[in-house]
Amino acid sequence: MADNPQIAAEAAPEKPSAQPKPLMEKLVSLAKQRGFFYQSSEIYGGIQGVYDFGPLGVALRNNIKRAWWRSMVELRDDVVGIDAGILMNPKVWVASGHVQNFTDPLLECKKCHQRFRADQVSGKRHDEDGGEFTEARQFNLMFKTFAGPVEDSSTQVYLRPETAQGIFVNFANVLNSTRMRPPFGIAQIGKAFRNEITPGNSIFRLREFEQMELEYFVPPADEMKWLEYWKEQRLNWYLSLGIHREHLRLRAHGKEELAHYARGAFDVEYEFPFGWSELEGIAARGDYDLTAHQQASGRDMSYFDDLIRERYVPHVVEPSAGVDRTLLTLMIDAYHEEEVRGERRVVLKFHHFVAPIQVAVLPLSRKEPLTQLAQQVEHQLRPHFRTEYDDTQSIGKRYRRQDEIGTPFAVTIDFETVNDKAATIRSRDEMTQVRVPLEELVPALKERLA
Ligand code: ATP
Repeated sequence: MADNPQIAAEAAPEKPSAQPKPLMEKLVSLAKQRGFFYQSSEIYGGIQGVYDFGPLGVALRNNIKRAWWRSMVELRDDVVGIDAGILMNPKVWVASGHVQNFTDPLLECKKCHQRFRADQVSGKRHDEDGGEFTEARQFNLMFKTFAGPVEDSSTQVYLRPETAQGIFVNFANVLNSTRMRPPFGIAQIGKAFRNEITPGNSIFRLREFEQMELEYFVPPADEMKWLEYWKEQRLNWYLSLGIHREHLRLRAHGKEELAHYARGAFDVEYEFPFGWSELEGIAARGDYDLTAHQQASGRDMSYFDDLIRERYVPHVVEPSAGVDRTLLTLMIDAYHEEEVRGERRVVLKFHHFVAPIQVAVLPLSRKEPLTQLAQQVEHQLRPHFRTEYDDTQSIGKRYRRQDEIGTPFAVTIDFETVNDKAATIRSRDEMTQVRVPLEELVPALKERLA
């Protein structure tokens, strides 16, 4: 059954833990209308669990990934990056335990044949039509395909369900080709694929998504210390993106939740409109992965520590985050509706650092010389900020659009600009307007966007 492609079309949407508030609907429609994300292959009726990111969505994703890479790799002495292939030797997934254990319990309603994750339904019958559920069976979440022209079991490969294994199998390569020594980490950002039984809640649970993972290799005795360290670091990273503290929490995994090899784990959770849910997992994985690959491949994964004159297989602390979930979280957290002079204003109050567009340049009218002047100003600002020029529609509508896409500042070029060589900076959050000489625009905006 795990091979059945029909399962993609039949799976029921994820059952939310609470009735979703209309906020999700509003956000999804804003995302489509303004170009953050769209359902994949929508003109053919879509495909469950896959979304495409539009011009603003891809900008936001890049900003998220850049922020993660900057903080996890570039600003540290002890972490290096890699970029491994999505396809790997299938032995990797046998050794890692994924072929055997990367499963969810699946059951089916005998009446309507909808399929559910057993841990997301209660009772023995489908509450919509009273149909009896089948016994749960384990469903492997890995997508399979074939490498090469022959389609048989010898050529079967998997689309990676996580980026982590690409790091573990390169542990010795990195150790031997760099000067990194434990404690040190290897980071990777890349696509992952899971044939989720119930994708849903917009881009929260996808079948194709992107992960940002760090495997941090430490001396065995220090593992729990580093778990503590990373859980704080990771929580702080979300705060640094401007996410409200009261919507974030760290949740320790109970004993029954932990994988048998794990020594401890925390989730960074966000209060989504459908309830508190995982944004990132941080786990102390012991030497499980390196030892498994050492045994299966016969390659040495140990490290001789000169300082303590001891050989050991390093233990691992893994912070594992999702690009798509972070994007959804940033949009939800930034979403505000306000009443301004009797009109509803929708505004995404993105942190300046992640906002897809930082400065919009708007000529008050479409007449010359305003448009030409505005284009010149936009070109002058471009090397310093993420900018956009817009001369369509009325100025009110253009401000409203910039609010909805979360642009922190707009520079308006008006008829006075021709004479006084100055423009107005309008702030998204304070809704103030300040007149600034054109030649001081760059420093004035830099100061505001700092
Ligand atoms: P869940 O319990 O929600 O299925 P998980 O515990 O299996 O998730 P991990 O394997 O810990 O998730 O993956 C690490 C991170 O990757 C998650 O915190 C999430 O941000 C992201 N992620 C995992 N699965 C998905 C998915 N199907 N869609 C989008 N992002 C995902």
